[in-house]
Amino acid sequence: MILGIYGWQDSGKTTLVERLTEDLSAEGYSVSSVKHAPHEKDQDVEGKDSWRHSKAGGDPVVLQTSEGTTLIKRPALAIGEVLEVVRREFHPDVLLVEGYKDGDFPKVALGDIEPADGTVLVNPALEEVIGYIRKEVEYERAYDKLPKLDCGKCGLSCGDLAREIAEGKMSLDDCPERPARKVEIIAGGERLPVGGFVAEIPDKTIRGFLSSLKGYSGEPDVEIRLRSSDD
Ligand code: SF4
Repeated sequence: MILGIYGWQDSGKTTLVERLTEDLSAEGYSVSSVKHAPHEKDQDVEGKDSWRHSKAGGDPVVLQTSEGTTLIKRPALAIGEVLEVVRREFHPDVLLVEGYKDGDFPKVALGDIEPADGTVLVNPALEEVIGYIRKEVEYERAYDKLPKLDCGKCGLSCGDLAREIAEGKMSLDDCPERPARKVEIIAGGERLPVGGFVAEIPDKTIRGFLSSLKGYSGEPDVEIRLRSSDD
């Protein structure tokens, strides 16, 4: 889940991100964060080698040290692209975004700033934010396991059933369309709805094909990518 934290300078944004990261990590959640810094000086140091690479036209430039890796991309990616890359590459349970008031995700407002659209909590206690995050992560985990057909056979939409599961009122077994095996098809970055009987067709076909290949010994998780020959 993504949660933004915004407010004026010195409103406690970084402290809240720090506390959330510490406490949620201690609970076993994987936590990533994105910090919005308005000035270039926050990104790179003028005159340093990586700054010179970037100013010469390198794009992206990667600064690699024994402590970490920094990627410099100019011009800056849109916030939506940054979040997509972090989620796709690192799959965090929680992605905290500090300093963006206008992003299209739920947000926490700190201090006396005017609450923006999508603000779910205003000057909350730490435990309140953690409670909100726990519930949203449970919701996302449940939703991710549903076939997303929105067929209504459970009496609800997929999203509403996931919400009920997150609140402990229903379970995944309440979805009659949930296949015994999970088949994910992602085309052009979009996940296609695959459920019930339809999921069994590629599952059985591909496993039959794999069984004839040397090196496949029945592993339950298999990833196959179909790409255009130009990639
Ligand atoms: S039965 Fe399953 S796929 Fe259909 S709406 Fe309910 S949760 Fe979604």
